[in-house]
Amino acid sequence: MPPRPVEPPVESPGPSTRAVHDGEARVRDDRSITAPVVHASTYPFENTAELLAFMRGEHDRPEEYGRYGNPTVAACEAKLAALEGGDAAVLTSSGMAAITTTLLSMLKSGAHLVLTSDVYRKTRHFANAVLSKYGVDVDIVPPTVDALRGVVKPATKVVFTEAPTNPYGRVVDLEGLVGVAKEHRAKTIIDATFATPFNMRPLEHGIDLVIHSTTKYLGGHNDLLGGVVIGRGPIVEAIREQHGTLGAVADPQTAFLTLRGLKTLGLRVQRHNEGALRLATMLEAHPAVAQVWYPMLESHPDHGLARRYLRGGGGVLAFELHGGLAAGTTVVDAVRIPKLAASLGGVESLIEQPPLMSFFELSPEQRAAIGIKEGLVRMSVGIEDPADLEADLRQALDSLG
Ligand SMILES: *Cc1c(COP(=O)(O)O)cnc(C)c1O
Repeated sequence: MPPRPVEPPVESPGPSTRAVHDGEARVRDDRSITAPVVHASTYPFENTAELLAFMRGEHDRPEEYGRYGNPTVAACEAKLAALEGGDAAVLTSSGMAAITTTLLSMLKSGAHLVLTSDVYRKTRHFANAVLSKYGVDVDIVPPTVDALRGVVKPATKVVFTEAPTNPYGRVVDLEGLVGVAKEHRAKTIIDATFATPFNMRPLEHGIDLVIHSTTKYLGGHNDLLGGVVIGRGPIVEAIREQHGTLGAVADPQTAFLTLRGLKTLGLRVQRHNEGALRLATMLEAHPAVAQVWYPMLESHPDHGLARRYLRGGGGVLAFELHGGLAAGTTVVDAVRIPKLAASLGGVESLIEQPPLMSFFELSPEQRAAIGIKEGLVRMSVGIEDPADLEADLRQALDSLG
C-alpha cells in the first residue's frame, strides 16, 4: 500500500493543529508516529548502478552524505516549511548560521545590502565586519518604509529586517517594505525569531525569506541551538547548495528536539502571549516603572502595525525603571521565578538588564546614543502561570521601596 501523501488534516487548520501535523505524512513509511533520529555520516549504495542512477538524479533516495542531508533534519525542515507557508526550508546549526549562510549565498562583491537598524547585533556585526570586507556595500537604516526608500538603488539585492525587534518590540510595515524592495527587484528577508509562525505570517505579506533562530521559541525549551531559513523553492534550494559548502549543518539530535518542541508551539506561544501581556499591563500601572515596551500595548509606538501584522505580542517585554541601573539590578536580583540569563523564547522565564548584558562594553553615553536606557530591564516571559509571574515581579518592584 503506498503511503498517503502529506495533506492538511482539515480544510483550514488552526495554528495548533498545524504545529502538530504540518509537514508530516499521515502514516510514515516506517509506521513510527515520530521521525527516527538517524545518526549517520554517510549512506551506502547497493552497487555502482544505483550510485550512477543517483548521480543522474534518477533515484529518489534523498541522502548521499551527512553534510548534504539527513532524514531527521529533512523531517524537521518539512515541518518548518509547512508551518511558515513556504515550499522549502534549510535547517542550520544556529540562528547566526542561517543568517550568514543566507546572506553569503545571496550577495557578492559590489552588491548593496540594506539592514534595518534594530536587527540582531551580530547580524549587524556580520554585515559591517565580514560582508563589507568582501566588497558588499552595506547601509543601515531605521525600520521605516521612508528610510528604506531613501537608500535603495539598482545595486540593492537584499533588504534585511527583523520584527518584533529586541528589546523594544518594534514592528516594521511588511507590505510597505516589500513594495519598495520590489520596485528595485531586491529580495526581502525577515528575521522573525521574536514572532514565530504562530504570531506572524511574513510570506503571506510578500516577504521572500523568513529566518528564525530555532534556539528560541521553535525549539522552545532552552536546550538547543539552531536556525532555519524558509521560502519559495528555487531561492531556498540555492541556499541549500551553498549550505553544503559552508557546512554549518544541523545535527539529527537537535533536529529531533526541534521537531518535538514544534508540536507544542501553539500552546506555548499562546501562553507566552498571555503572560507577557498581563505583565506588561501590570508594569504600565506600577509607580516604579517609567515606560513599558510591548507591541500589544496601546502605548507602543508600533501598536497599529502590531495589530495589523501580529496575532500576539510574543513573550518578550522591556521596561524602564525610574531608579536607573541600580533599580534594574535590584529587580533582576529580587525575582524568584525568572532566571538571570541571555536568550528568550523558552519555557523558563528569563530576565536581564540590556545595559549590563548585550550592551555592557558601551559607555552609558554610547548606550544612550543608541537608545539603550540605563534603567532598562528585558524579560522573556516563559510558560509559568501568569499569576505567579505577576506576583513575583510585583514583590521585586515593591522591594525598590
Ligand atoms: C538569538 C537570535 C539570533 C541568533 O540566533 P542563535 O541561534 O543564537 O545563533 C538571531 N536573531 C534573533 C532575533 C535572535 O533573537
